[in-house]
Amino acid sequence: MSEMITLALTKGRVLKDTLPLLAEVGIEPLEDPADSRKLIFPTTHAQVQFVVLRGSDVPTYVQFGTADLGVSGKDVILEHGGEGFYELLDLQIARCRLMTAGMQGVPLRQGRIRVATKFVNIARRYYAEQGRQVDVVKLYGAMELAPIMGLADEIVDIVDTGNTLRANGLEAREVIAPVTSRLIVNKAAMKTKHALLQPLVEALGLAVQKRMAGS
Ligand code: AMP
Repeated sequence: MSEMITLALTKGRVLKDTLPLLAEVGIEPLEDPADSRKLIFPTTHAQVQFVVLRGSDVPTYVQFGTADLGVSGKDVILEHGGEGFYELLDLQIARCRLMTAGMQGVPLRQGRIRVATKFVNIARRYYAEQGRQVDVVKLYGAMELAPIMGLADEIVDIVDTGNTLRANGLEAREVIAPVTSRLIVNKAAMKTKHALLQPLVEALGLAVQKRMAGS
């Protein structure tokens, strides 16, 4: 059997931005992942297959070389720490910001505060840099609820339009990091599968450049 490249993708709304970019370099899944319960997808490129995962699992698959390549949000990469892979390209898709947020019009109290987030490592690092004492509470979803219910003084979450925050009476406060999706590659695969990976990475780089020039 000829050598394969496994590309790990983030399911959900990020996938909607990722598939058109991959289609621009001639790689399309043979079946629409949005309409399927499958997790592994052969593509129009005989040597490329997709695995479609939860975003936070993409860096882990690439770190251990189970996937050679991945498309992962900068937020997820920062939270993971980046061990075992290189970040090759900014794909300029799924643009958003990682921000702190709290209840509208409620000033942050002095002293130790509680912060709810799924990005616990990023939150610890950020508030430490600010010289703030915090207790970080890990949540898996509906972060906006935490300040409303009094579970936390602030949250750290992804903000795109800010509509979700506003709809819940919250305000965006500080930007921790701008976020876009990145192409990541397993460090060992970068060497052992270089001949197969290089043309793909170059084509994606050119597609991104072309898009940026057109926008
Ligand atoms: P918005 O209401 O437009 O600010 O969107 C906020 C919510 O959408 C957040 O709670 C995120 O979970 C999700 N979201 C928006 N953009 C992205 C993205 N690029 N990657 C992952 N999640 C996102």
